[in-house]
Amino acid sequence: MDELYLEKPGRLKLRESARIDQLGDSEALIKTIYGGICGSDIKVYGGHLPYANYPCRPGHEILGLIVEAGPKSPFKSGTRVISFPNTYCGICEFCQQEKTNICPEKKIFGVTVNGLFGQEIVVDSEFLVPVPSELNSEKAILTEPFAVIVHALKKATITKGTSVAVVGCGTEGFLTIALLEYLGAEITAIDINQDKMNKAKSFYTSIGTLHPENVKNQKFDLVVEAAGTKAAIEMAFTLIKPGGTMITLGLTGDEVSFPSLNVTRSELSILGSIIYTKQDFKEAFEILKNPSFNIAPVLSEIIPFAQYKKAFADASTGNYTKIVLDFRDSR
Ligand SMILES: [Zn+2]
Ligand SMILES: [Zn+2]
Repeated sequence: MDELYLEKPGRLKLRESARIDQLGDSEALIKTIYGGICGSDIKVYGGHLPYANYPCRPGHEILGLIVEAGPKSPFKSGTRVISFPNTYCGICEFCQQEKTNICPEKKIFGVTVNGLFGQEIVVDSEFLVPVPSELNSEKAILTEPFAVIVHALKKATITKGTSVAVVGCGTEGFLTIALLEYLGAEITAIDINQDKMNKAKSFYTSIGTLHPENVKNQKFDLVVEAAGTKAAIEMAFTLIKPGGTMITLGLTGDEVSFPSLNVTRSELSILGSIIYTKQDFKEAFEILKNPSFNIAPVLSEIIPFAQYKKAFADASTGNYTKIVLDFRDSR
């Protein structure tokens, strides 16, 4: 069995996995089907996440089949699961309130500890979520990045006609657009990449698009920042209506300045949002199952695992949305 291994930024290799001798009581051995390359994987690959550790096995968005489970695992062999992208302690004040996403003890797969991009991997059952049988694997692999948006958009009130600017149209941006459309919001997508704007327009006909150069005085009830660059975040602040809200999803290690006077005088609400909880997964599954929920533009390509170099290179261009590795193919 093979796995990916990131020696240091930019140096990604395929290598044979270490033998798995015995599973812990609550652990499960998973045969990986798909692995989605996340924006954070690309940041770790490029050396742009200050809290990343090297060397490490990258990846966290995986879908696979359990092939063996320890005696205390609630799962049977044959169960299709997706993984959480991180562990959490389960005992701190945040975990006790089911806010496992902000547990200070959390360890992030493929960032601070070894990740999940291998053909066979071991994960503690606590961090696995079974996938409903109605969801095909191509939709199911999008559950994890979509749960990020389910979690984030619950922070604001969105009804029919709420005006929303989505800054940055990568995978999370497109998933945001998909959910906003489903909720009936009035959407304006903002990105420097014209091809992505065109793609957004072709899949969501009622959407407006805006190039950052054409941002003048437009204001929105809600701004969703999903680009994670200093320039995009600073622009996003200028788009919020008085009394409006910004939800920040983007990750950047750069210092960003913000218009504190305007935040106070215009009563702006700035809300950070990071990943999700198990409840968000449940809601994500329900929406993904609905045939009227349109996520067609989100999955860009599925690439055999052996072509991981192409997959990471494509994902690094920023010209794609979700790129998925097929772990069933080996070298
Ligand atoms: Zn992810
Ligand atoms: Zn905790």
